[in-house]
Amino acid sequence: MPDNTIKPRNKVKIKITKEITTAFIGKINEEKVVSSKTYKYTFSKDYKSKTDKEKKALAKIIFTSETKSKKLNKTDKHTTKKKITSVLTKDLYKKGDTIQIPLIKRKVSFTKLDEAELYDEVYVIVQSKGLESGETIVELRQGDKEELELEGVGIYVQHNNSNVKEIKEKIGNFSKDESIENKDDFKDWSIAKIKLAPKNETKLKLYRKFLKDATDKKANLYLLVKANVSGESFTNTFYNEVHGKIANRWYDGDADGVEWFGLKKKTPVIVIDPGHGYTKGSAGSSVRLYNHKIKGKDGKPEKDKKGNLIIKKSVKLDDLPQYVIDDVETWITGIKKGAYSNKYTERALTYDVAHAIYDELIKKGILKEKLHIFRKDLNDRNENNGKTLNERIKYANKINADYYISIHADGDDVKISTSGAHTIYASINHTKLSKKLASDILKYYSVIPILTESPKKDIRNLAVFKPYHKTKRVTLIEMGYVTNPKEAKKLFSNSKKIGKEIARGLDEHINNEYK
Ligand SMILES: [Zn+2]
Repeated sequence: MPDNTIKPRNKVKIKITKEITTAFIGKINEEKVVSSKTYKYTFSKDYKSKTDKEKKALAKIIFTSETKSKKLNKTDKHTTKKKITSVLTKDLYKKGDTIQIPLIKRKVSFTKLDEAELYDEVYVIVQSKGLESGETIVELRQGDKEELELEGVGIYVQHNNSNVKEIKEKIGNFSKDESIENKDDFKDWSIAKIKLAPKNETKLKLYRKFLKDATDKKANLYLLVKANVSGESFTNTFYNEVHGKIANRWYDGDADGVEWFGLKKKTPVIVIDPGHGYTKGSAGSSVRLYNHKIKGKDGKPEKDKKGNLIIKKSVKLDDLPQYVIDDVETWITGIKKGAYSNKYTERALTYDVAHAIYDELIKKGILKEKLHIFRKDLNDRNENNGKTLNERIKYANKINADYYISIHADGDDVKISTSGAHTIYASINHTKLSKKLASDILKYYSVIPILTESPKKDIRNLAVFKPYHKTKRVTLIEMGYVTNPKEAKKLFSNSKKIGKEIARGLDEHINNEYK
């Protein structure tokens, strides 16, 4: 049935008996409140309840017996021992006495949403007048040219655990829920809880691909609403026209001042941890000062008159000649341990790279609310934010992180030529997921060659992989060796590029693996 057969409420004065006033997609807000309704309890024998201790004990007896017999707490009549205690005002209760026990219920409201992500659980809400015994049929249709489904067909969602295009719901069903204190507010509404994803795997793949590739990273949807009382045509209902060009459409972006409903891909909660910068000035590894031989015109090391090698001492990275950088084993004779410059520490490098990853992920459509990064509040890349690694892990647990990316660079003071990048994955918890992430994340990394043994299993029992860390996908990235001048040069001059490449690998992994 074409939907343009529906007439908006016309200006002629006729009595409107059945009307859809509004429709929207919303999220539920719940608040526990003391109900205006009480539960009547009759004492079956005498009880003393003079002291606080006696009152508490009596409340426990009542709570336990009524819960056991399913008169309380199993039939949407919820209460607490505290609430029972609060009404035990007498010193003695005799057989046959009664008390009114306060009940705790949910006060519910809904907030309109302008967008949501694939897999989100949301409510399709239709408000009506004069349709108490009716039913609503709602479709989420795509409004713009790019299509999830063919034009004029609803997208698939899950409703009552079925794969549906048409969301059918009885008006007033929600108001039968006794656990809701303000249930009567919804007697004219149809409220359907749906999951914004098709149940069918093939469709799901298509939707995910579409949302990933869509120009503005979302599908623009509108709601098509039909409502009737049984046996009648839905066209007998009037649809409040103010929300769209066509009367029974809401979120109709073709109408003036109305925005589409945006369906976006599911984005995970990601924690980016720039290694180091902890409480105690932890700077990690760093670039060293080097002593090196000097190359003569003949290409050989220069010697003084006595025949001793001429050594240039304590040379900074920026002052090292290219021939030294290209062949550190031949030309470098010694190092000075420790950082000589704040500019060239692992703490500073990981800060730069982590921020570059953050910016790239935002560009790729990862929601800001789902991206977490430590040391973001710092303006100085050499500062510590006072959060230990343990605190960072606890934070990730608290926000239910899906990904934890720990950024590091290596150091080797013994062998200056030690080189290569690698990732590490968990050996105890979620090993499989962690390994897959560790393999995928460096897929586009080109700044430093990746070691053939990467990804490596954590054999050192690193803190970030300890079992109390609940994040399923954890990896530690070693971007290369800052103690190797050749790699240090590349690392410190390419933090933006590194961020881009790591973000690309992570984003691709998310698109393929995160469901
Ligand atoms: Zn480190």
